[in-house]
Amino acid sequence: MPAAYTRYERVVWRAFVSEVVRGGRVIAAMRLATAAPSSSALFVLVGAEDVVAVAAHDRHSLRLTSAWGRLSQLRSSVGHGREPSGPRGVDVMSRDIEARRPGFDPDALREKYRAERDKRLRADGNDQYINVVGQYERFVRDPFATSEINRAPLHDDVDVVIVGGGFGGLLAGAHLRRAGVEGIRIVEQGSDFGGTWYWNRYPGAQCDIESYVYMPLLEEMGYMPKEKYSFGDEILEYTQRLASSFDLYRDVCFQTGVTGNRWDDEAHRWIITTNRGDEMRARFVVLSTGVLNRPKLPALEGIDDFNGHSFHTSRWDYAYTGGGPNGDLTGLRGKRVGIIGTGASAIQSVPHLAASAKRLYVFQRTPSSVDVRGNRPTDPSWVKSLGPGWQEERITNFNVLVGGGHQDVDLVNDGWTDIISRLATFMPRQGGADISPEQAALAAELADFEKMESIRARVDATVDNKQTAEALKPYYRQFCKRPCFHDEYLPAYNLPNVTLIDTAGKGVTRITNTGVVVGDETYEVDCLIYASGFEVGTSWARRSGFESIGRDGITLTDRWADGPRTFHGFLSRGFPNCFLMGLTQTGLTPNFTLMLHEQAKHIAYVIEQTNRRGCTTVETSRRAEDDWQAEMRRMAMFTKDFFEACTPGYYNNEGHVSDHTGLIASAYGGGSEAFFAIIRAWRDAGSLDGLELA
Ligand SMILES: Cc1cc2nc3c(=O)[nH]c(=O)nc-3n(C[C@H](O)[C@H](O)[C@H](O)COP(=O)(O)OP(=O)(O)OC[C@H]3O[C@@H](n4cnc5c(N)ncnc54)[C@H](O)[C@@H]3O)c2cc1C
Repeated sequence: MPAAYTRYERVVWRAFVSEVVRGGRVIAAMRLATAAPSSSALFVLVGAEDVVAVAAHDRHSLRLTSAWGRLSQLRSSVGHGREPSGPRGVDVMSRDIEARRPGFDPDALREKYRAERDKRLRADGNDQYINVVGQYERFVRDPFATSEINRAPLHDDVDVVIVGGGFGGLLAGAHLRRAGVEGIRIVEQGSDFGGTWYWNRYPGAQCDIESYVYMPLLEEMGYMPKEKYSFGDEILEYTQRLASSFDLYRDVCFQTGVTGNRWDDEAHRWIITTNRGDEMRARFVVLSTGVLNRPKLPALEGIDDFNGHSFHTSRWDYAYTGGGPNGDLTGLRGKRVGIIGTGASAIQSVPHLAASAKRLYVFQRTPSSVDVRGNRPTDPSWVKSLGPGWQEERITNFNVLVGGGHQDVDLVNDGWTDIISRLATFMPRQGGADISPEQAALAAELADFEKMESIRARVDATVDNKQTAEALKPYYRQFCKRPCFHDEYLPAYNLPNVTLIDTAGKGVTRITNTGVVVGDETYEVDCLIYASGFEVGTSWARRSGFESIGRDGITLTDRWADGPRTFHGFLSRGFPNCFLMGLTQTGLTPNFTLMLHEQAKHIAYVIEQTNRRGCTTVETSRRAEDDWQAEMRRMAMFTKDFFEACTPGYYNNEGHVSDHTGLIASAYGGGSEAFFAIIRAWRDAGSLDGLELA
């Protein structure tokens, strides 16, 4: 790489060379010169005389284009090319470079992102939300129970109690069945299996990850989703199929909330107490109480004063709104409706509210990134073409790509992989040139700007009212918040009955008995819907609704006072035979069911091995737990800076980035594929290193 290049050019050069070397084709690289010195340049990689690829950049952006053909053709397409003036250079007065200049100024965008984040930063972090207990319990009551279950309290003994009947609990149950465990009892607050999909039945609820990779065990179940992105009712029905197929209805306790979980060190049993007076004993417990399970409400002044009707999106009140998950909310005809929040639940439900309500006010603090959805029915000829093992291959392909890795083909090929493959173009790869983390970060930032510019351009192209369009544009990096995908959300703002109330990052000011106040303006509503999301950064006990008490009376909350402490995210010292699922110190991926599936396999393996070795208890050693803390901290450094620059949300612990709590503390910084490789290798070794069995 020529030493005289500017710092930025060096970044571009290394990124570019790395990218093409990965393809194994490069023989030589040359800089094709600048239109304005140091502000733009065109790089060409040639294999002999054949042009392999072209990269154009200006001060702020690199674009890599395949340009197969002869070098001479490229020169003529550039137009003003001259013969090489040196061994590796062709000076070009290049219109082409100018044409590739991105239509944004990265410095201005950086400043804008910072300003938008700062508007939203607040000292209270997670305390800005109400814990939905006491007078707020009505917001979490089950509106979907068709009848009340009556049964006597249980005081029995089972092999395994699994708390939570969502995908996590179901997958744990399925793998434990496969491991030959008979006495499995799932305890679930809801009236059936489904978890997220039991509770979230709002109109338009749909998975945002392709259903062929989101819905686990499709091949074993002989099931194929009806559409590329399934709607909630189909996913709910599928969870119940899974439960039947693995015989998990056998000993289930629905409408049962666990209130406590205590280790009896003499009996070597966990004692699980519930709100029905149960006192079950279990050799093992698996806590799968959910990743986005505990609804949160904004702690707004006057929230208790509202005299109209209100509910949280995760407990949709169809008795009031009429209609169902497909919309047609007849009960809202003639009604003024407000919805607070513009995350995924609002994005999916707003088009249905817009179609039914007389008036709809959408109260926004931070706009979501709303990319193309492009849902379509499953193609029967594609289904016929699939061979055995197709789902695992597809899941892995997707996960590697969304983790920034390389795959020769993009099987899912949607908004998720589009984002990542754009980013990946600018990132260094294993085996590629030696790019420093700073250089890679810069290249990724530029690609991110480009992606988000396209998201903002989509708003402009869709929303008629210029002021509304401006307010709907997200100014933060793509993965600061979970990206959304929808094709009807933005057009809803062109309807005459729909108004976006942008709060300039401040949120709603207060609630009155008849409406919502933002600044000095009051918006009168009959119905107020909280699309305010779910707790992530609060304690495990608060999110689960119960405390676990381990050996010597220590609570999980105290043990984790300085952040989660586990070995591989499953076992915590002092809590033998108690397995954690979900957002622990684990391999986080946008496809949550993959994470849960890998966790379930691992837990079933450890329980099976404990049984097979004739042991009663299994617990992590202190050394293994300490080593995992050190590894988690070491790897967290790679994500900390990114999240600190983000607009507040649950991804960055509401702007209070910490390795003690929230997503960063939960996610292995090396990425999910690396994490899965670690735990698979650990199982393959077969020595149960780091565990103490007795
Ligand atoms: C609206 C919405 C859409 C989503 N879409 C996607 C998506 O497209 N792709 C994706 O990957 N992820 C998505 N997620 C994340 C989703 O939560 C996971 O995909 C997955 O379903 C989580 O499964 P789980 O078993 O870990 O948790 P859950 O499904 O939340 O199940 C946990 C269960 O534990 C029960 N429980 C909790 N505490 C207790 C207690 N004390 N006693 C008894 N029972 C208790 C709860 O009632 C709940 O049913 C979405 C989440 C939401 C909210």
